[in-house]
Amino acid sequence: MEQITLYNTLAGKKEIFKPLEGNKVFFYCCGPTVYNYIHIGNARAFVLFDFIRRYMAQNGYTVTFIQNITDVEDKIIKKAAEEKKSWDSVAERFTRAFQEDMARLGVLSPDISPKATETIPAMITLIETLEKKGFTYTISDGVYFRVRKFEGYGKLSKKSLDDLRAGSRISVNDEKEDPFDFALWKFSKPGEPAWESPWGRGRPGWHIECSAMSRQYAGRTLDIHAGGEDLVFPHHENEIAQSEAALGEPLARYWMHNAYVNLNGAKMSKSLGNDVTVRSLLKDHPPQVLRLFLFSAHYRKLLDFTADALVDAEAKYQRFNNFFHTFSDVEEKEDFSLVKEWDERVRAFLNDDFNTSGALGVFFEAVAACFKEKDPAGLAGAVKHWLRRWDSLFFILPGEETSLTGETLHGLMEILIDIRHRARASKDFELADMIRDRLKELGIMLEDTPDGTRYKKR
Ligand SMILES: [Zn+2]
Repeated sequence: MEQITLYNTLAGKKEIFKPLEGNKVFFYCCGPTVYNYIHIGNARAFVLFDFIRRYMAQNGYTVTFIQNITDVEDKIIKKAAEEKKSWDSVAERFTRAFQEDMARLGVLSPDISPKATETIPAMITLIETLEKKGFTYTISDGVYFRVRKFEGYGKLSKKSLDDLRAGSRISVNDEKEDPFDFALWKFSKPGEPAWESPWGRGRPGWHIECSAMSRQYAGRTLDIHAGGEDLVFPHHENEIAQSEAALGEPLARYWMHNAYVNLNGAKMSKSLGNDVTVRSLLKDHPPQVLRLFLFSAHYRKLLDFTADALVDAEAKYQRFNNFFHTFSDVEEKEDFSLVKEWDERVRAFLNDDFNTSGALGVFFEAVAACFKEKDPAGLAGAVKHWLRRWDSLFFILPGEETSLTGETLHGLMEILIDIRHRARASKDFELADMIRDRLKELGIMLEDTPDGTRYKKR
């Protein structure tokens, strides 16, 4: 096992990572609330923690990676009302969009990907436990958590309730005992998603969703709990309060948080429009370029997404492209002795709190060395092989040339057309349309005729 040092938000410093038990790692990353397409800022966390999970798995740890889908939440209900659609159709649509975007970005599926709507009983059980211990009270719109009663409140974000209170305006009519008490269970209005519960029909609060899902699937204290830094307060602070008040043991041992991505110097929000969604960026840029951008700074440093930053990532991609093109005749060959020093430095960077930008710098040094070499064949072959091996983790290199013949391509088209027919037969029109639209983006048009579906290249 590689010895990894990582920055633990809870400890407020870098620590040597040691799993609770042997080499087993239970790793929970807060997933998306599915009410919109994700933008490049959201993607940072998902790309990063997938990268970390895979690095650990490749280096001797047995990782169980859990990432939830928040498919019931106020934002989804609001979006559904705006679009005059049902909340569950909105959630389903954007769950699928999220999964597609992740796949195209080269992010692997989590080992377990629970949906909040499928974990309601565990949430109710957790709230019942909290109720028995006196941590809850009920007011007109729901069941609330009593933050004052939880002694460790603020330990993750290093905020004290008194400081927080001083900085906030307290509304006079609020029925809550404390402005920082938060909803565990919200009573639903007509038309809103609702489940039966001991307190009345309603839906879970966002924080209890993660507490319940992580517990249900890990079954014990997590080794790592991760998310964007905007989740530290109140989301993760509230998760800690609920889980630890109910279960009497730590929710997680290490808390990892990535910094924001700004847009031209200003904070990115989901309401920015389409120009920074992963989906629209992928129309003009290969996924490798977006990943090179995301890996270009240490994950705890702010990234600024600008036209220049994108040009810079494109240039990096071109350097790799140029390298593989220049040495396309050189056979890839494993010769570790030639790349050993670079490899050790890449590992040292990654083992030191996942310094991806440091690792990228070493890759470019190796590429540059091949161009300087008088007789580069041996070195270039070894560097190509070595880079390709790391690329199973980074996914930043141009793809290898494929040599599909016309016959194979025709066979693949037949398979796609068959899948589309089956989708339509089972009334999955969204999937059927997706296949048609994606092919159209590639310039391949499908034509439905009485004799079956034909395709032609534009
Ligand atoms: Zn969460």
